[in-house]
Amino acid sequence: MRSSSETLTPLPLLADPDGYAPHTVDLIHDPEARAYWIEVFEHHLRSLVGCAAASDGGGPDAEQRAEQLRVQFQATLDRLKAEPDAFGELNILLICRLREQALRACGFADAYRHIKAAENDAALTLLPEVLAELDRHADDRLEALIRGVFAGNIFDLGARSTTDRFEAGGFDFRQTRAEVDARPWVVDDFDALADRWRSGSYRKAIVFVDNAGADVVLGMLPLCRELARRGTEVVVTANTEPALNDITIDELTPLLQRAADLDPELAAAMGTGRIVAMPSGNDAPLIELNAVSVALADAARDADLLILEGMGRAIETNFDARFTCDALKLAVIKEEHLARMLGGHLYGAVCRFDAGR
Ligand code: MG
Repeated sequence: MRSSSETLTPLPLLADPDGYAPHTVDLIHDPEARAYWIEVFEHHLRSLVGCAAASDGGGPDAEQRAEQLRVQFQATLDRLKAEPDAFGELNILLICRLREQALRACGFADAYRHIKAAENDAALTLLPEVLAELDRHADDRLEALIRGVFAGNIFDLGARSTTDRFEAGGFDFRQTRAEVDARPWVVDDFDALADRWRSGSYRKAIVFVDNAGADVVLGMLPLCRELARRGTEVVVTANTEPALNDITIDELTPLLQRAADLDPELAAAMGTGRIVAMPSGNDAPLIELNAVSVALADAARDADLLILEGMGRAIETNFDARFTCDALKLAVIKEEHLARMLGGHLYGAVCRFDAGR
């Protein structure tokens, strides 16, 4: 099922590796959830087909392969409706992987590559002023940073409006951040996080990032910079293989360099190895933490903080996962089903903090 043949291994920070299951939602035994999520993938297929064709230049060959993608993946979804256990298990991660498999089978290596590049460029132009503004916060800087993560995570290219807003030049990160809900958030462990933050610095953080563009550049990088500034060694980890608009390691590495060119503190942190980038081994917009790259597993052994960011990584696959070190799960809810599950609302924020055990 995986697109990579890389050797993968469990993240050593899992508190119960044998009992770990990367699925918050079981689609075999919950027909209502199954119908909901298959419809989400069906709806998304329309925009995916357009992105895929555009990513390969949009000519007749690309259009034809995009149509083939539409037919092929729709057939997979129809099969799952009729035969939920066709693949032995059924969960959101599996359907994501089937989608990436269909893209590759139709010759699309990275359907969102142009969009990701454009988003990264746009976000970088805003980075200096976002950092300068955050630096003016003193006592409430941590909350401002977390709100920034939420604002960035709203921009997810399941949502086409993101691209439209970028193209129209109408994206205002600060405006979006101002629109993030006031506390209490849907899941709100911020006070516990802030208490821990005040008690001293972490030694080493493993930070799983999500989408290219504002999400990683304006949301997560400032948080990583603040951790590094406090003396934490920060390992920023991104997908090895492309999946939707998630940033890949091959995109993250040059992006960090470009960000460092814009900010002396980021440059210093990268120059001294306090911020490094590492491939996660992952090939999906969700993540299975019992199958990460060997390099990441080695780096994680002495970490005392894990950060999972984004709906796929923090909620859909790992909301209930427990870790031996402190774990911070940050995301904005962009699906009604998850909003109902968490007793919240669409675009509600999740800040879950669990002490290590
Ligand atoms: Mg994503």
